[in-house]
Amino acid sequence: MPPQDPWEMALQQFQVAADHLSLKRGIRECLAYPHRELVVHFPVGMDDGSVRIFTGYRVHHSPVLGPTKGGIRYSPEVRLNEVRALAMWMTWKSALMHLPFGGAKGGVTCDPRQLSPGELERLTRRYATEISILMGPKSDIPAPDVGTNAQVMAWIMDTYSMHRGYSVSSVVTGKPISIGGSVGRSDATGRGVMIAAREAARLRGMPFAGSRVAVQGFGNVGEAVARLMHAQGCRIVALSDIYGGIYAPEGLDPIAVRQHARQTGRVEGFPGTEPVSNSEVLERPCDFLIPAAIEGQITGENAARVQAAVVVEGANGPTTPEADAILAGRGVLVVPDILANAGGVTVSYFEWVQDLQSWFWSEGEINEHLERIMVSTFNRVAALAAERRVGLRTAALIAAVSRVADALTTRGIYP
Ligand code: NAD
Repeated sequence: MPPQDPWEMALQQFQVAADHLSLKRGIRECLAYPHRELVVHFPVGMDDGSVRIFTGYRVHHSPVLGPTKGGIRYSPEVRLNEVRALAMWMTWKSALMHLPFGGAKGGVTCDPRQLSPGELERLTRRYATEISILMGPKSDIPAPDVGTNAQVMAWIMDTYSMHRGYSVSSVVTGKPISIGGSVGRSDATGRGVMIAAREAARLRGMPFAGSRVAVQGFGNVGEAVARLMHAQGCRIVALSDIYGGIYAPEGLDPIAVRQHARQTGRVEGFPGTEPVSNSEVLERPCDFLIPAAIEGQITGENAARVQAAVVVEGANGPTTPEADAILAGRGVLVVPDILANAGGVTVSYFEWVQDLQSWFWSEGEINEHLERIMVSTFNRVAALAAERRVGLRTAALIAAVSRVADALTTRGIYP
């Protein structure tokens, strides 16, 4: 069976929340369409002297609650429908967290592992130029996602600043600290996932320390969550990256795995572990399963084989609606993406506020605010789920969609 289209998935999830809210038809239609979509085809001079054309996207799903916010993805799988879905999820995530942002996402169809640093920089600067008609600190603020990092954000910030003639640090988040990035941002998504897992354990009456954890994806999100959960006394039994995974029932030290991955380019081959495929990582015995790679990983085909008691979605859209139903039927608790991985956009909001005010906070302040917002939002979603007798995903979407729908209704339809 072909994998489910992410945009179809996002729309299906939205319609469930819209039904619960009995949204009026006009509002429902408005929110079911992305507000604005930009597709760009642009040339990049390659190291061998040739010129290659790349395709990039920037989609604004909804600017109703504020400037649009969302990451930029570099991957061979980037398609318009994937960017649309990720943009819609950003609208709901920001609304759920009560951040003054709308939702956006961008991406370039490319394999960053096949590009030299120079090619990557030229691609980034040209893409940033192409989307600069939408981008701006008061209009649309990118951040890192799969295949991009703080260095890519630095090039985007520099390109935008060169066009303006002065430095505009608040145009992107997830930047290096030396150019206006925030302390605590690089771990923020992983830290938020760890907090969400800890709160899920509390909700379930499960011990957190000593619990077994499997993490799919060992990048910005997966590496941080594995390291932070390990520091909380959890046992990391499985890890993977795009090349494959490793399994060790007695537990792994994520810092040692990171060193190994830095040296060899992959987690596979870490001494004393059994090699497993990316899909096997999802099916190994564990208490917490944390998909932290890409969408559409837990599907109708494999959901029945997931052995975890709790799935905490570090990635966006890792569980299909069909898999959601199977997991719910088996009593597996799913902490949805728009809640579980919202620590990233929350600290991105702190970064933006610090840049706009040129007043920087300490790491203690950042982590304290993040902890408070994650815990209070988790409790709000859990209470709504109990009240409406729905899963955490539907509860989170109901809270988020109703906030955006209220704002849209209050603002009215222009003209
Ligand atoms: P990343 O590029 O830093 O890491 C991605 C990891 O997943 C890598 O280990 C990579 O090898 C692996 N991977 C990539 N493609 C894969 C595939 N086809 N199959 C299996 N593994 C694959 O990306 P990231 O920033 O850690 O993002 C991971 C997920 O978390 C994405 O869904 C992203 O949208 C989501 N997310 C990221 C942030 C953030 O702050 N970076 C915030 C919220 C959500």
